[in-house]
Amino acid sequence: MSNTIQRIAILGATGSIGTSTLDVITRHPGDFELHTVTAHRDVAGMERICRAHHPARAVMADPDSAAALARRLQDLDGVEVASGDQCVAAAAADPAVDTVVAAIVGAAGLASCLAAVEAGKKVLLANKEALVVAGELVMATASRTGARILPVDSEHNGVFQCLPGRADAPHGHAGLAEAGVTRLILTASGGPFRERDPATFAQIRVDEACAHPTWRMGRKISVDSATMMNKGLEVIEACRFFQCQSDQVGVVIHPQSLVHALVQYRDGSTLAQLGAPDMRTPIAHALGWPGRLDSGVAHLDITRLGQLDFLPPDGRRFPCLELARDALEAGATATAALNGANEAAVEAFIGGSLRFDRIHAVIEQTLEHMDRRGDASLDDLVDCEQWARTHAADCIRQWGVA
Ligand code: NAD
Ligand code: MG
Repeated sequence: MSNTIQRIAILGATGSIGTSTLDVITRHPGDFELHTVTAHRDVAGMERICRAHHPARAVMADPDSAAALARRLQDLDGVEVASGDQCVAAAAADPAVDTVVAAIVGAAGLASCLAAVEAGKKVLLANKEALVVAGELVMATASRTGARILPVDSEHNGVFQCLPGRADAPHGHAGLAEAGVTRLILTASGGPFRERDPATFAQIRVDEACAHPTWRMGRKISVDSATMMNKGLEVIEACRFFQCQSDQVGVVIHPQSLVHALVQYRDGSTLAQLGAPDMRTPIAHALGWPGRLDSGVAHLDITRLGQLDFLPPDGRRFPCLELARDALEAGATATAALNGANEAAVEAFIGGSLRFDRIHAVIEQTLEHMDRRGDASLDDLVDCEQWARTHAADCIRQWGVA
């Protein structure tokens, strides 16, 4: 690809995005060097990665897990094991690293994402919650430090690919107005319950919610896809990343998950990005940008695609989408609270203490009780996120599973 080796840190290396990233970089041994990997508690997953890829550093956010990893790697030379959230953030800012893949799930990824942006890294952003909680701050920091953030979320990566690329522009693309763009459209598969009778939503089990029809992903994002909160978070992510308003970002249901995004221009043109539903494509795009890399994903055979459907989302079936748009209108503290309440509700659903059909109600209740303000410092946003988690946890305790 080029003659300089990119030294990579993968934050959240044991997860679904982390695994896909490892797959892509091992296809290009001359272009990338894996310097750092981080994870939360998955000691076995981290041991496998260290033995297969020999990174210089492995960080476990959970200290007990770091101790366990160090014991298991006693016979392996050259891998430094570190522990704790602060080490994860420090690893993201380390001068020995050029490119940081921000693939931790949830607001837990915000501090390390910001550390990478503050240090002016090339940041491959999968962790959409970082932009939902503090997107304006993250983007403003990138403009100040010259960090280049490239979107890995497939829809945002698709939009990015349909925009005129500008290696000299702060965020890698021409501004929307400057480029003549009128509207961005994100596609959504509709998840596993697109056609299920809503009267049965109370009985939905965790394994059913995590069985996504077209993508293989971590559990949190799978549940978000089933409620369609994922698309709500992505509308917020798009507004923050591409610096536009909610009414410029449309959502369409596209069950085949082959068209990931469309961009409409002033002159009546609509550009679309297509590809198999495999995250190695957007990851390879972002790793190689402004060049292109082999990702291991086969081309679509367009003569065999069959029918492609595009339908409007059903707001009654999926109320989370509207909750996210309302929070976006209300401002930065509301989106931080939306994220906190959603993470608490999804954790409770996965843990068996909240019904699927009550996830949106917990979030709605929390947003109704918050003190909404527009601008906010990082501390305010983090406080707001925490307040929302606590409030949501109170709701969940009151409502129980019955
Ligand atoms: P995952 O659950 O498979 O992996 C999450 C990773 O984060 C793991 O390595 C885990 O150890 C680490 N982690 C979890 N909690 C942590 C904590 N408190 N501190 C430090 N590390 C922690 O998740 P995923 O599906 O790979 O998703 C990662 C991010 O990418 C999410 O924000 C998700 O929305 C986004 N994303 C994922 C996909 C996908 O296809 N999986 C697509 C688009 C965007
Ligand atoms: Mg997505």
